[in-house]
Amino acid sequence: ERHPIHTDVVIVGAGPCGLFQVFELGLLGLKAHVVDSLKAPGGQCVELYPDKPIYDIPAVPVCTGQELTDRLLEQIKPFGAGLHLGQEVTQVERQENGRFRVVTSAATVFDAGAVVVAGGVGSFQPRRLDVPGAAELEGKYLHYRVKDPRAFADQDVLILGGGDSALDWALTLVDHARSVVLVHRRPEFRGAPASVAKLYALRDEHRADVLIGTVKECTHVDGVLKSVSVQGGDSVVRRVDADQALAFFGLSPKLGPIAEWGLDLQKKQINVDTEKFQTNIPGIYAVGDVNTYPGKKKLILSGFHEGALAAFAIKEYLEPGKKVHLQYTTTSPLMHKRLGVA
Ligand code: FAD
Repeated sequence: ERHPIHTDVVIVGAGPCGLFQVFELGLLGLKAHVVDSLKAPGGQCVELYPDKPIYDIPAVPVCTGQELTDRLLEQIKPFGAGLHLGQEVTQVERQENGRFRVVTSAATVFDAGAVVVAGGVGSFQPRRLDVPGAAELEGKYLHYRVKDPRAFADQDVLILGGGDSALDWALTLVDHARSVVLVHRRPEFRGAPASVAKLYALRDEHRADVLIGTVKECTHVDGVLKSVSVQGGDSVVRRVDADQALAFFGLSPKLGPIAEWGLDLQKKQINVDTEKFQTNIPGIYAVGDVNTYPGKKKLILSGFHEGALAAFAIKEYLEPGKKVHLQYTTTSPLMHKRLGVA
């Protein structure tokens, strides 16, 4: 196990609320590390609607999900928060000395004074193929991500899905696999039109195939994938021989490990008070879509406010008795120093 990273606060989730939490903590002189299971920061804004316009961020008449994220990253730059992406926070444990041991799926360990859960609707997980025979093949013959395309050399590969991941991997694996067949339930693709055109061009050259239909079953013998049954629009079921299947049906959020940390949950949200945004465990706070309280609205601007109040509460929790005056960023020399604009 690695040496723990010592920090004031660990923030679980790099969505808009987790990112702005870095800013509010930074203004009060607190150092944070942010962890997200996704490979890029931005939470739902980047994962679900990077190009869609948002109109209700105060003083920003319009910006896209990606632009909002870029601006938040720019705004928190002065505070030098550690960003740990592509890893899920799996464990949060209060230790005897009152500090928290936080562990991620990549075996990163933190020793933190406080924890802010900004996990939104949970961590995004690949949507699974839910047909008879699929679950048993997972990991060996049925995959939801590709680590090394060379692993598919000389294999007959079936790719399921119609988005960019499915298309990109089909185009990549053509150069590695013995054969590539892409199966999508509709003739219309969600992915980039240029990729669709490339795929059809490869089909015309007999280097790949495209099948429109719905997967009904995976057939295996002694745990080894043999074929996948695909029902076409003509309702005929065709069996396609395959050594390996790759499914790219997008990501869906699961509250995941957050549910196992002893937090008081209501449905899939964490109960907090509206003074400190603290959970039932002292020292663990929750902001953004993941929390609930009377009158809660799942809006970005509400999460920003929650982060500001949580930061003051955390300051008091970590440095009890020390008076914290409200200071304006406009006029406070201390704020200017922390922001690096002095
Ligand atoms: P999220 O954005 O959900 O981010 C949470 C992050 O935490 C995720 O990246 C997740 O991977 C990570 N995470 C969770 N669990 C773990 C774990 N255990 N370990 C590591 N990482 C973890 N709101 C508005 O105010 N205005 C709008 O116009 C608007 N439009 C929207 C349009 C759409 C299509 C959608 C879906 C939402 C929209 N929203 C809008 C809602 C807004 O996106 C959310 O309120 C906001 O994203 C919540 O931010 P968050 O930081 O709390 O959580």
